Amino acid sequence: MSTSIKVSIARGKDPYYTTLKALENLTPPQVKGLRVLLKPNVSRMLPYSRGATTHPQVVAAAIDYFRSCGAAEVAVGESPITGVRVPEAYEICGIKEVAAARKVPLLDFDAQPYQILKIKGARVVDQIKVTWFWWEYDFVVSMPVMKTHMHTDVSLALKNMKGMLWRRQKVMFHQIHVPESRKAGEKELDLAISDMASVLFPHMAIIDGSIGMEGLGPGAGQPKGAGLIVAGRNALAADWISTRLMGIDPEGVAHLRLTKERRGLLPEDIRCIPRDPQRLVTPFSRPPSKISFRYPGVRVTEKESCSACLNTLYLFLERYHHRLKPYLDLFGTLNLAVGKAAEPVSKETIFIGNCCGPQAGLCQGTLVAGCPPTDGQIWVKVQEKQDQVDRTLRNLRKTKAEKGY
Ligand code: SF4
Repeated sequence: MSTSIKVSIARGKDPYYTTLKALENLTPPQVKGLRVLLKPNVSRMLPYSRGATTHPQVVAAAIDYFRSCGAAEVAVGESPITGVRVPEAYEICGIKEVAAARKVPLLDFDAQPYQILKIKGARVVDQIKVTWFWWEYDFVVSMPVMKTHMHTDVSLALKNMKGMLWRRQKVMFHQIHVPESRKAGEKELDLAISDMASVLFPHMAIIDGSIGMEGLGPGAGQPKGAGLIVAGRNALAADWISTRLMGIDPEGVAHLRLTKERRGLLPEDIRCIPRDPQRLVTPFSRPPSKISFRYPGVRVTEKESCSACLNTLYLFLERYHHRLKPYLDLFGTLNLAVGKAAEPVSKETIFIGNCCGPQAGLCQGTLVAGCPPTDGQIWVKVQEKQDQVDRTLRNLRKTKAEKGY
């Protein structure tokens, strides 16, 4: 007879009590005297209400739960995406307040040196740089937000562990280009996550679907108040069930399918509590198959980019679109290109991110360097371009006036 793997699901309006309810249905983990590390998603400087970061009350419940199980220490840690200042991110999302009230340390994973983890049987990544804290703590809990993801379909407990990779190692996952190593329906990023999950597998998962994100996740989607919390000792099983609860077939999510095959998980061995999870399914809108930016006067060409640059682009358009009028008056359209295979649509195209460097070089276009660059850097380039044309026009008018044309 096969051993069943428990995944507990709770739904409710109060994230704190819903989390405790989900945890109480599981056999308590043996953490007496151990150091427990909670790894929420604090990868963006956004309030939890946007569905991008883990709800502070879910973190509060997890701290209280592991303390009640006898943990010697509980800490919270994160290494966010480039451009995000982690102390500020902890404050904005509300985790700083609940951690301070409980005297729990908030760690910046990038503050300590890394260690190398070698990956046997890797498909695309044979070693990764991992935060030192992975070895400092005995029991690591992945606490992602339940999200759809524009490149990996979903972003849950396995993908959340990318936040334990050291500094820019995270971006490296998006730059892998070995088309010969992938099969139909797989991307290099899926293979890299599955390689990572073979060594950086958390001891437990608590998936926060109190306010998840649907559509263009992980950063630019819409909040989805699903009210769900999913918990399990097997993070892959928790991801598998969460994906179903989101109305998505986990078999179709490449990094989950690959990890399932690698770890030999049999979905029929997963036992859900309650036993009829079907009634809790809350469909999430999938990311559009073609990424589009609906800002008047702006045209974006995207091919093989990663979510970090796309997120920067969304931030730029959100923050600066209303200030583009002088540029649009001069050029008619703002053409932006992002991703290593994006092509320019005019000689005025502005390329976003280092991996566009070769295309920008070929057409002598404007490159906003960075991996990813910041929204402010894009704004500076747009202004530079506009000033340059303004100056040329002024000089032309001056010359005409001097020569009496
Ligand atoms: S430049 Fe942008 S799209 Fe390219 S790898 Fe870096 S973050 Fe990703």
